[in-house]
Amino acid sequence: MKPARFHYVRPASIAEAVLLLAEHGEDASILAGGQSLMPVLNMRLSRPRVVVDINRIAKLKGIALADGAVRIGALARHVEVMRSPLIARHLPLIAEAMPNVAHVAVRNRGTFGGSVALADPSAEMPACLLALGGAVVLESTRGRRQVAAEDYFHGLYDTARRPDELLIEALIPPQRPDTLSAFMELSRRHGDFAIAGLACTLRHDAGVIHAPRLVYFGSEPRPVLARTAMAALDGKAWSPATHDAVAAALADDLDPIDNTFGSPAAKLHLQRVVTRRVLDGLPDKARAA
Ligand SMILES: Cc1cc2nc3c(=O)[nH]c(=O)nc-3n(C[C@H](O)[C@H](O)[C@H](O)COP(=O)(O)OP(=O)(O)OC[C@H]3O[C@@H](n4cnc5c(N)ncnc54)[C@H](O)[C@@H]3O)c2cc1C
Repeated sequence: MKPARFHYVRPASIAEAVLLLAEHGEDASILAGGQSLMPVLNMRLSRPRVVVDINRIAKLKGIALADGAVRIGALARHVEVMRSPLIARHLPLIAEAMPNVAHVAVRNRGTFGGSVALADPSAEMPACLLALGGAVVLESTRGRRQVAAEDYFHGLYDTARRPDELLIEALIPPQRPDTLSAFMELSRRHGDFAIAGLACTLRHDAGVIHAPRLVYFGSEPRPVLARTAMAALDGKAWSPATHDAVAAALADDLDPIDNTFGSPAAKLHLQRVVTRRVLDGLPDKARAA
């Protein structure tokens, strides 16, 4: 199918783009990499009157370390993030997770900002952003605001972003040298959206774990910071008993969706499998670090 008719506009600046969003509000769709938007338009699941193509806006591009944070511009393509030495050095969790995002062709066009704006519940980058304690910067004609990832993801494709706001960039604190991170997901085939997955960071000192952040995705309407499981891990040593306790605690943190990928019980089971695999593998990762 072909999309319904729309006006196509290609602003050259953030100021121009937010003016267009202020004018058209929910009648406008922002086009970044188009990997999610174009199929939706072609299937006529969405019929915006105006498509605002942001690809010419230079200030939305690039990856940099500034003022104590890694800045990932909204238009940074997945492939750029995956190959960035700066990401590999300061945000190894994202470097580890990115090869799981779709396939080469999609990663060549898809953008970090598009993924975070869309907030697909099975997407990898929203989970990493939350695990790393990052934030997003949003701009409209009313000004700029920064929203912590913990306050940004509200529900199924639902975020704190208002229709007239452009996502400008993500700001993420660099991982400390004593921070370990790990990522794992289960999907039918490599590159498919995850059915269950975990993005995690933690610190460890002489085998004792501190400040773990466990974010589950794929099974819930949005990425979930699993606070009960985190409490079960904090201050403990690696051991099969601890890992089992963390997996058991997930019943209090997760409320999986019932859909064609499996029942809530099956998904909770898969999240527990992922948890044990990740935690069992971390001591070796710690020794190699
Ligand atoms: C076959 C296939 C497999 C895929 N598998 C995965 C996967 O495993 N994991 C995964 O995470 N993703 C997957 N994707 C999606 C892919 O990662 C997309 O690139 C991503 O979801 C959206 O990025 P985009 O730049 O293409 O955004 P677009 O498609 O251009 O836009 C997506 C949505 O975000 C909005 N938007 C985009 N940029 C901004 C911005 N700066 N400010 C405000 N709103 C904005 C758009 O209006 C639109 O609603 C897959 C896609 C395909 C086609």
